Amino acid sequence: MDLTKEVQYIKGVGPSRARMLRSLGVNTVLDLLYLLPRRYLDLTPQNFEQGLAGEEVGAFPCVVLEKGQDVVTRSGMKIVKIPITDGKRKGFAVFFNQPYMKDAFKPGDRLVLVGKMKKNFGAYEIANPDWQRFEDINSSDYVKICPVYPLTKGLTQKILRKIIKNVFQEDLRVEEVLPLSLLEKYKLMPKLEALKNIHFPESWENLRRAQERLAFEELLVFQLAMMVTRRHIMGEKRKNKYEDFDITPFLKNLPFTLTKGQEKVVREIISDLKSERVMNRLIQGDVGSGKTVVAALALYLAAKNGYQGAFMVPTEILAVQHTATLKKYLEPLEVRVEVLKGDMPKAEKRKVTEGLESGEVDIIVGTHAIIQDDIKFKRLGLVITDEQHRFGVKQREALVKKGHSPDVIVMSATPIPRTLALTLYSDLDISIIDTMPAGRQKVDTYVVDDSMRDRVYRFVEAEIKKGHQAYVVCPAVEESELGIASVEEIGAELSKRFPHLTIGILHGKMKAEEKDAVMKDFIARRIDLLVATTVIEVGVDVPSATVMVVENAERFGLAQLHQLRGRVGRSSLKSYCIFITGSKDKIARARLNFMMKSNNGFEIAQKDLEIRGPGEFLGVRQHGLPEFKFVPLIKDIRILETTKSLAAEIIEKDLFSKAEYEGLRKAINERIKII
Ligand code: ADP
Ligand code: MG
Repeated sequence: MDLTKEVQYIKGVGPSRARMLRSLGVNTVLDLLYLLPRRYLDLTPQNFEQGLAGEEVGAFPCVVLEKGQDVVTRSGMKIVKIPITDGKRKGFAVFFNQPYMKDAFKPGDRLVLVGKMKKNFGAYEIANPDWQRFEDINSSDYVKICPVYPLTKGLTQKILRKIIKNVFQEDLRVEEVLPLSLLEKYKLMPKLEALKNIHFPESWENLRRAQERLAFEELLVFQLAMMVTRRHIMGEKRKNKYEDFDITPFLKNLPFTLTKGQEKVVREIISDLKSERVMNRLIQGDVGSGKTVVAALALYLAAKNGYQGAFMVPTEILAVQHTATLKKYLEPLEVRVEVLKGDMPKAEKRKVTEGLESGEVDIIVGTHAIIQDDIKFKRLGLVITDEQHRFGVKQREALVKKGHSPDVIVMSATPIPRTLALTLYSDLDISIIDTMPAGRQKVDTYVVDDSMRDRVYRFVEAEIKKGHQAYVVCPAVEESELGIASVEEIGAELSKRFPHLTIGILHGKMKAEEKDAVMKDFIARRIDLLVATTVIEVGVDVPSATVMVVENAERFGLAQLHQLRGRVGRSSLKSYCIFITGSKDKIARARLNFMMKSNNGFEIAQKDLEIRGPGEFLGVRQHGLPEFKFVPLIKDIRILETTKSLAAEIIEKDLFSKAEYEGLRKAINERIKII
């Protein structure tokens, strides 16, 4: 069967079911093979007693004892009760509003019921079960591990399973991307078998192997695509010549001296600029390690050597703040810095864009406003993106295209464990700022129960009375789910509670100029307490903020909490971070408690990786990379390393030239198109 064939022509699918499938994103047979179950039910046969133990639905082989009986409940509902036995215990299958079930079975019928076993007034009872007949528990038709698919109106699990089963009856020409020699060496399942096991796992072990097999391929193709691209980028000859490397004026103008870590990274940048090749460098560093000044120094060198620099940031708030910082560092040295924002008055914007085109403006800071078509540069030589995970690689590329083979620096906001960084950014060289500026105090961190909220806010008030400022972070903007704190609710509550304080509100649904105004007020201390979503997460710098409260802290990733915590403790003032949670979940608690123990972003990221698996980190939103389908399913991160070194070996030994690598070569070319 041709995999590009439309689903409509599969047995059991007509035009109307095809429409339903399309709404699930399934157009072709291939799409259907890649429709992932959301989870799996364990339908290992159980007796009635075993069924009481778990929370989940179970499968119960049983024999019908008598014909169904009509019963009217006390509330007047008509139900059918069918007496059944598991061989040892008696119970009832109960069907609500399905009077026809009364005659569906006769005594002696053997069934498998799938549902939740309960005890009702001392009797085993299973309500509205799925059912199938079988004569032999070992029948090949019986699935012990049952996929649960995402559904849409009109489609049921049963129908979908049947359709997918029909597909696997066909002769499917699934292309084996991996060479046979690799399948053997790494003991991987053939692709068709893996896909079959994704839908109809023969065992839990096979399901895991199938997921790993598909993730292996996905990662290998991705890493190879990145490496091929990197070889291409890295091979690019430097066109922008640098001669002036004197950074003394810049350092003299700084209010502090660089840390060891900053110095090391500056040296790496300078050596890149001296080299024959274009620079493509990722700068990693913990929150507060001082990445901005390193970026400023690189921009200074660019300007001194006659090149323009562009600094792209994810939010307007950051654009404004970075512009102020850069002006302070660079304007005394006669480097002209301007900002471009989406909402600038036309005339002002024109002045800046004309300045860029004529070359009068040296450094431009802005959001993706600076990649728009009408923005032209005279000699763009250096492109920096801050907090890169918010940008797609495509956006970075769009900015690079505006220059003449410009150098590229990517600054990552969140420390990423080494294995992952090597995977995600294999198209970049990596620098790490591994020291913090001196005099930085450790932020005291507490994880507290909901019941402590009152005390927490009394503490916040006391800090504000000292003339300090505070942040309160909520997971939601407005009331949506019960028990999830929102900016609007908490903002209203705190305004009522502290009428004498000025309380500001900040979230992503506000207009850019509203956000800017609030942030400016907070920076100027016209706001005491800022209630916000994670929009404040990225890079905002307010030294007199000494307390951060995070509501529903369990809703955030550890790396994100660490990032948030980095907003306080930005001066010599003692600072505090308080995570409030109502969660009783042990793992969630343990995760949060780790935040009390560690202040090291890399360590925290590593922990987060271990607890939550690589999927979270490899999600599309975090890094602007195309989504992985199978990688989020795997728990074992060693596959990252395995595929990484395999990819390096393939490139090094130039194995692509072998015929059996044809499939892999094609897959890589496809992947490069969407990186
Ligand atoms: P991040 O790496 O999180 O982007 P920033 O660049 O915003 O950190 O720097 C955090 C703060 O540390 C800023 O207020 C900055 O002025 C200050 N800073 C940076 N480098 C040093 C240094 N070498 N010594 C003292 N303070 C520094
Ligand atoms: Mg920063």
